[in-house]
Amino acid sequence: MSDVPPLLWGYLTALVFAFGACVGSFLNVGIYRIPREESVIAPRSHCPHCGKLIAWHDNIPLVSWLVLRARCRQCGEKISIRYFLVESLTAVLFLLVWREYGVDPRTPVYLLIMAGLVLGTFVDLEHLIIPDRVSLGGIAAGLILSPLVPSLHGVTGALAGFKMALIGLAAGAGVLWLVGVLGKLAFKKDAMGLGDVKLLGGLGALLGWQAVVFIIMASSLVGSLVGVGMIVSGHKEWQSRVPYGPYLAVAAGVWILWGFRWWAAYVTWLRPPM
Ligand SMILES: [Zn+2]
Repeated sequence: MSDVPPLLWGYLTALVFAFGACVGSFLNVGIYRIPREESVIAPRSHCPHCGKLIAWHDNIPLVSWLVLRARCRQCGEKISIRYFLVESLTAVLFLLVWREYGVDPRTPVYLLIMAGLVLGTFVDLEHLIIPDRVSLGGIAAGLILSPLVPSLHGVTGALAGFKMALIGLAAGAGVLWLVGVLGKLAFKKDAMGLGDVKLLGGLGALLGWQAVVFIIMASSLVGSLVGVGMIVSGHKEWQSRVPYGPYLAVAAGVWILWGFRWWAAYVTWLRPPM
């Protein structure tokens, strides 16, 4: 972003970080309440232990967790580190998207995807489900946003964007569905959750079939590495407890931040210009 003065750039960067922390704070509410089928809007935040309302000055993203030293001001019960992790992770991811794309129509879409991935990952880790709001929401967002921001798929024109979203949806959901069917035939048990199928369908609709190829390769690579790590460290039993959704999410995040560019470089390398 050479056309933005450095001081304004610095100010906007700080603003994006703070915005990310606030979104992370809201995601924390969703991570706790959505699997429990509670409303994410009302009632106001309260301590899950003593039920007391949390004052606004004890509910400032990142800051309050540190100031209160991870304890409820009323009852002294420990506040999970997850609150701090989700807020800082979301803030950093927002910062990275901003640094990579800056003022661009794709930026808000990528921020939305990052928020959805953080929400889906932490719910999946704890409850072994990916909320429909994330997966089906991703599919809907892909079909609506791709015609509006066709550059998500590296094309121009609303119709081309919509077509790419449909292809990406079919590629993402289709491939994982097939893996699930074959896995069930081979292992006689569910190898792939429907939540994963819907999630990759949504990511395909938003990011295109190229992203689906990358996400499948990268997520199985990361999954194998973590699996080997668990066996080596003597925690083999953890393997069955880690769902696949978080691997899909990590791979999708890497694709958004760097993979898109790697792909373009790879295609150029395959077909060098005349
Ligand atoms: Zn409390």
